[in-house]
Amino acid sequence: SQVPFAVNEPVRSYEPGSAEVKSLISAYKQMWKEQVEIPMIIDGKEVKSEDKIAISSPQDHQHNLGFYYRGTMQHVEDAINTALAAKEKWNNLGWEQRAAIFLKAADLVAGPYRDRLNAATMIGQSKNVHQAEIDAACEFIDFLRYNVEFMTEIYSEQPVSDTGVWNRSEYRPLEGFCFAVTPFNFTAIAGNLPTCMAMMGNVVVWKPSDKQVLSAKIIMDILTEAGLPAGVINMIFTDGKETADKVLSHPDFAGLHFTGSTTVFQDMWKKIGNNIHQYKTYPRIVGETGGKDFVMVHPSANVEAVATGLVRGAFEYQGQKCSAASRAYVPKSLWNDVKAVMESQLKTIKMGSPEDPSNFINAVIDKNSFEKCKGYIERAEKSAEANIIFGGKCDDSKGWFVEPTVIETTNPKYESVCEEIFGPILSVYVYEDQDWKETLKLVDETSPYSLTGSIFSQDRYAIDEAYKALENAAGNFYINDKPTGAVVGQQPFGGARASGTNDKAGSKMNLLRWVSVRSIKETF
Ligand code: GLU
Repeated sequence: SQVPFAVNEPVRSYEPGSAEVKSLISAYKQMWKEQVEIPMIIDGKEVKSEDKIAISSPQDHQHNLGFYYRGTMQHVEDAINTALAAKEKWNNLGWEQRAAIFLKAADLVAGPYRDRLNAATMIGQSKNVHQAEIDAACEFIDFLRYNVEFMTEIYSEQPVSDTGVWNRSEYRPLEGFCFAVTPFNFTAIAGNLPTCMAMMGNVVVWKPSDKQVLSAKIIMDILTEAGLPAGVINMIFTDGKETADKVLSHPDFAGLHFTGSTTVFQDMWKKIGNNIHQYKTYPRIVGETGGKDFVMVHPSANVEAVATGLVRGAFEYQGQKCSAASRAYVPKSLWNDVKAVMESQLKTIKMGSPEDPSNFINAVIDKNSFEKCKGYIERAEKSAEANIIFGGKCDDSKGWFVEPTVIETTNPKYESVCEEIFGPILSVYVYEDQDWKETLKLVDETSPYSLTGSIFSQDRYAIDEAYKALENAAGNFYINDKPTGAVVGQQPFGGARASGTNDKAGSKMNLLRWVSVRSIKETF
């Protein structure tokens, strides 16, 4: 019962003028004028409500793409009841049968659905061709295939037995239903959170971000076509706070798989704590939350590598990755050279709609995000401690466009160095070369987060010093590379401190959170 060893899905290069890129852009154009109607999916059925919410694209807030149906607390209750009703049959199916569904889903994403899922991610979440491909196609496929491989290992593991005694482990799903809450920024995360719980025999209520409904619906279409039975994953579009109140006070609530903001996760954890006497079992809580990810540069670093790491790490997908480089510490001796290379790279970067694949920078997700970025930029313009050295222009006439912006500051505790912005704004603090050790301390102490971070150095002793001093400062630590773009099966992803429970997305460890093990000893 072994499945083939998973390999990473090859990333399509979408060369200008290629058949691949033409086909993707034509899917984009088609969806742009389609006028979608996106229902919730409960018990395998399309569920509509009275409440129609218009969908627009971040790159064009006036263009109407259609609408989605927003649900009420009755829909949440229906989703929970449906999930619970589907539970026994789903688990009894056995893990090999369940695995086959998710392997087929991976093949559907890789083949017939690839363009549609990428196009939906480009339109709804404003990702360029490449960013959509590495997320909605490759990372989602990798999550599905690697998780199936990890589940194979889990279900095959058995404890040692002895003469006259047979020990065994039964990997049962959690007792109750699970709740998945997913963010707008990765279609792959939206796909991974509910599916990895379901793989392990669980039934799921899934609440995607209301900024990701286009690609969320396609994920459900794919799972349905792959053979996922009705009721196993139920997708609802409802108010986040009210839904959390309802779901987290249910006696059968058994597990939360969350990616999103730190405050929302902490509020949910508090609710779970307050309701603890109500549950049948202690719920599993897994969350990946914020980041304020660092790039620490040693005087021995390669200037080109640092500049490229900063430009790509900070600005790919407009800095809207939890892993985005958002604070850099550069030694004075290198700063002018790093700046010059960054300038030459930034000059070549174009901003605009993903419909034109040569636009590296697209729009930020919505008005709130736009205003937040603008606020940091305007305050930096006025501050005596900060200087905008690149970018700074914001344009909301058509879409939510914010130029890639670099703020240099003389204050290592300046607001944009400390706070998560989730936009294309990088803050740089230039330190005196001899202060390397103190600066390492600063990197560790400046932020409550601990998601990703990079050290750039050619000096092995300095790398080792950073490695030790920043031991708890990043769950994903990069040496001479940007802090984004973790690959499933290669760098399991997640962080601790205020960044989450560090249960590594795309890992055996994560899947083990969604089972409750019965140890059985039989004596002969
Ligand atoms: N896994 C992604 C990366 O390594 C980031 C995921 C996130 O933003 O939550 O860039």
